[in-house]
Amino acid sequence: MGKIENRASQLLERMTWSEKIGQMVQYGRCEDREIDLIREGKVGSLLNVHGAEKINELQRIAVEESRLGIPLLIGDDVIHGFRTIFPIPLGEAASWDLDMMEKNARIAAIEAASEGIRWTFAPMVDVTRDPRWGRIAEGTGEDTYYASLTAAAKVRGFQSPNENGYPMTAACVKHFAGYGWIEGGRDYDTTDMSERVLRETILPPFQSGIEAGALSVMSAFTELSGVPASGSRFLLRDILKGEWSFDGVVVSDWESIEEMIYHGYAEDRADSAYKGLLAGVDIDMHSGVYLEHLEHIIQKQPSLQKLLDDAVLRVLKMKFELGLFEYPYIDSNKREQILFNREHLEQARDSARQSIVLLKNEGAVLPLQPAALNKISLIGPLADDPHHSMGCWAWKGREEDVVTIRQAFISRISPSAEVTYVKGSGVKEEIAGGIEEAVRAARESDMGVVVVGESEDMTGEHYNRAHIELPEPQLKLLQAIKNETNTPLVVIVMSGRPLALEWVHTHADAVLEAWHLGTETGNAVVDVLTGAYNPSGKLPVTFPRTAGQIPIYYNRKNTGRPHLYEDYVDVDDTPLYPFGYGLSYTTFEYSDLQLSAEHMMVDGSIEVTARIKNSGPMDGAETVQLYIRDLVGSVTRPIKELRGFQKLFLQSGETKKVRFTLTPSHLAMRDERLQLAVEPGEFHVWVGPDSERGLQGRFRVV
Ligand code: BGC
Repeated sequence: MGKIENRASQLLERMTWSEKIGQMVQYGRCEDREIDLIREGKVGSLLNVHGAEKINELQRIAVEESRLGIPLLIGDDVIHGFRTIFPIPLGEAASWDLDMMEKNARIAAIEAASEGIRWTFAPMVDVTRDPRWGRIAEGTGEDTYYASLTAAAKVRGFQSPNENGYPMTAACVKHFAGYGWIEGGRDYDTTDMSERVLRETILPPFQSGIEAGALSVMSAFTELSGVPASGSRFLLRDILKGEWSFDGVVVSDWESIEEMIYHGYAEDRADSAYKGLLAGVDIDMHSGVYLEHLEHIIQKQPSLQKLLDDAVLRVLKMKFELGLFEYPYIDSNKREQILFNREHLEQARDSARQSIVLLKNEGAVLPLQPAALNKISLIGPLADDPHHSMGCWAWKGREEDVVTIRQAFISRISPSAEVTYVKGSGVKEEIAGGIEEAVRAARESDMGVVVVGESEDMTGEHYNRAHIELPEPQLKLLQAIKNETNTPLVVIVMSGRPLALEWVHTHADAVLEAWHLGTETGNAVVDVLTGAYNPSGKLPVTFPRTAGQIPIYYNRKNTGRPHLYEDYVDVDDTPLYPFGYGLSYTTFEYSDLQLSAEHMMVDGSIEVTARIKNSGPMDGAETVQLYIRDLVGSVTRPIKELRGFQKLFLQSGETKKVRFTLTPSHLAMRDERLQLAVEPGEFHVWVGPDSERGLQGRFRVV
């Protein structure tokens, strides 16, 4: 038994049933009632409590006034930054920079911990193929392989050691499992899938996060194939705690144990508590059903004491692991040097510009040459909105800290060109005279830069959309500018999801996807517009032409009639922008694809190399992607699967060789019995700039 296990077991032996259950109870508020409960040892963790002073005071009550002095654990949704706000996770994923993601998570954890928050309810690792779902913003896109790498990077970042050698915060991979597979993109809705999809597509990012050391997992709101995830023994006991030997904590989602009543899976609150315990949910987030019912349940059925002890032991271990017994309090004096400091801000700016994706740049209108342009009109409801620039789940970010695009234009572009700003429209509603004013401004200028898209409250939890086009008033604004002026048009899209941008793509001269970029939005956008930073982002998710194509994703299967690709009579059945796509101000040439052998043994490896040349005028970064296809299997395989990527920086004129090593883990698939296997046969391999283009090679596994 390890030292932590030992200490936790010894403590467990001294606890009453009521104190044990207390460790399994979490509240999402802290008023007089909860304070009394802390004193009585009946609450073990909290979320939504803020401020170092308040947290220290609650901790003092737990440590000094409760019988056993077990410290509290304070959690929170630290999704993409705390005070310093980074791009939303979907945007961050467009950077393809795992070190950056790890560092962002570390900074978020440092800032959160400086206020006493030691548990981050992140990363969200739900793979989804439905951009209607608002929470697509919180994940890293549609690809399982990529999501597994980002999950591990973020867990490492959130749990990187603090000055005392303990994890800065405990990470929580969520939402276990299948939450991103909801029907119709409607949050909380039913999910139903084969065990194959579950194991191939949904579970690997969770497993990867756990292998990286994640101390906790959150169970999903949703039901999976008939059983609510928070009551699923199959998910929590058999797979997570059984097959994977996960020995950390499972926390429910907000009241998701109690919600099993509405799912029609539990009779009442007592029954929901019983089913949560049986399934293996160690902490009940906010519903109170464990507090109210567990004691009675184990009195009635003493054999359940074992389950309860196991849950409590996990919670205690996490608290020991975090060093809470040694260091229950925070030094609130340090907070001001930590929150929003210069290093964090620089990182936010760099992440934001790395996240921007150049989707179109006809006639090389970008980068802007402010000195050659007399007048630029900056238009649109999102050009000067600090709140929406931060995106969803940014409650701790402060509007006054955000640099909007308009502010950055004023400080950096107006010295050389005259800038006029016109709002033109609201995000969701027209404003009187807005369009006329915008058209006038655009007509009188040499360039129109229009910032459109989604407000923060159109993305994130519960903010789903059936239409994923630009909101009508903004589309009208763009159309008026296009139809009534000849001014070149640059469109910057802020969004928490892939939008259906067909009109914009057809009519704008240049298009930038700028997601919700956080604190440094304006600086990052102007860095890219002026070429101070050459855009390098690549889409982590397919952009459809219309919502009617959903689900549309790159790693689909062939049908028996692959030549009949026109599946719709009314829309081109290709994405508007494929997975992995993104342009640069320079050009990259791919050549000389080579494989180290024509054959690979099932337990061997093969090297794939190619040359990438920056053949254009500017230095820049390129994310080189490697895809494979297993041509014939005992189970059919996708037409392409991402299995590697490297982000290279190349000076203009420079050539670099990329080298990938494919091993059995890259080629393995789940066979008919869902066992991982590498099957002999032919494989194709591509090295290219996105999921549609690339140099192709082939080899056989023997
Ligand atoms: C969300 C979780 C979040 C929790 C606590 C829920 O509504 O689904 O992702 O961690 O609230 O705020």
